Amino acid sequence: MNAPDTPPPSRTPAVPGASFDGVDLAALADRLGTPLYAYSASAIRQRIDGLQQALHGLDAMICYAVKANGNRAILELMAGAGLGADIVSAGELRRALQAGIPPARIVFSGVGKSEDEIAGALDVGIQRFNVESLDELLAIERLAALRGAVARAAVRINPDVDALTHAKISTGKSENKFGVSIDEARRWFESRAQLQHVRLDGLHVHIGSQILSLEPFRQTLARVAAFWRELRHGGHPIASIDVGGGLGVRYREGETPIAPADYVAAIREALAGFDGRLLLEPGRYLVAEAGVLLTRVLRVKHGEARDFLVLDAAMNDLLRPSLYDAWHDIVPVSAGAGPEVVYDVVGPVCETGDTFARDRRLPACGEGDLLMILGAGAYGASMGSTYNSRPLPAEALLDRGRYALVRRRQNFEQMTAGEQPARQWETA
Ligand SMILES: *Cc1c(COP(=O)(O)O)cnc(C)c1O
Repeated sequence: MNAPDTPPPSRTPAVPGASFDGVDLAALADRLGTPLYAYSASAIRQRIDGLQQALHGLDAMICYAVKANGNRAILELMAGAGLGADIVSAGELRRALQAGIPPARIVFSGVGKSEDEIAGALDVGIQRFNVESLDELLAIERLAALRGAVARAAVRINPDVDALTHAKISTGKSENKFGVSIDEARRWFESRAQLQHVRLDGLHVHIGSQILSLEPFRQTLARVAAFWRELRHGGHPIASIDVGGGLGVRYREGETPIAPADYVAAIREALAGFDGRLLLEPGRYLVAEAGVLLTRVLRVKHGEARDFLVLDAAMNDLLRPSLYDAWHDIVPVSAGAGPEVVYDVVGPVCETGDTFARDRRLPACGEGDLLMILGAGAYGASMGSTYNSRPLPAEALLDRGRYALVRRRQNFEQMTAGEQPARQWETA
């Protein structure tokens, strides 16, 4: 995951002074405080390079899924590497544009695009809409007509494939809210002539996240390819096929991510003969393993039944363990090399669900020890909240021995900005 000259954060208990992308993590935590997200630019670039190499020779565009990590510095890194963006809100559109990603490289997904969001995307001239319902298609037609514009659109197919991942991040089964069936998509193309302001010439699919097996991708690609061939025979040329995101990463021992070369080989095979543009929307794959959450032990609590390691990070900083029962490796950065102890690793938030790990074996820890939670670069900071009135953590980008603070730690005033006493009462 790292450039050869930057050893990855060790999975074994680290000696004091463990470094990440050439930066001493203990010193960084002293400087910037904890909890602190630290991202390795080298690791992200390496993932991008690997994927771009696998795509060599194809007319392909990688549209990074902004929701995985929308920090401006991360988006600027993506922009610098020539990537586009997959957005799901007006806020993400603004972030992408602010980071210098050209509108022509932005695709807009999501089941609930509001009229304002559609209008805003039309006004800047994004590459295309990934359309999830007939109602949305008609809204785009109407709003584009008002502007005398022609929007480009892809229909998001729900292929009814089991992504073999956590139920909460599975999106391609017919019972999920995403996309439309191939039968419905066929009707859209058959009545395509009625659309004056939407050019419906793309297919889109995204079946879920953290997928570690090629099989669901193969099944999905086969269905999409069959539909594309059918449409071509029916006189409906397809200019782009967007295969979505979903590539899984290694959160724990024994998990093996799909190699980009194998993934792209499956795409090449399924879409052989397709001469339009291929779009990919990876999020997690590019950033998850490039991020760690640095956190200190507030105290060790010896309960009746178990020992608790209480950290200064909590579910509001990193929600995945609470929301998805997700596993994250936890590694001491500057803890004593004492005998191993079994802990429940928890945060200070008043929820039993505020648990990062149960029954986790770690070297004995004490107050003030620094730990890192691995695999925190995706769906970490971007899912953060201020629950329990805990200000959002700081974020730093590391790059070959240097670091930049890319999000200041939120303070109380910023956290409560916008709230006001109920002084002025009005009637609606
Ligand atoms: C979330 C999302 C992605 C990115 O998913 P990853 O699993 O992070 O790669 C891509 N496309 C769409 C439509 C999404 O909603």
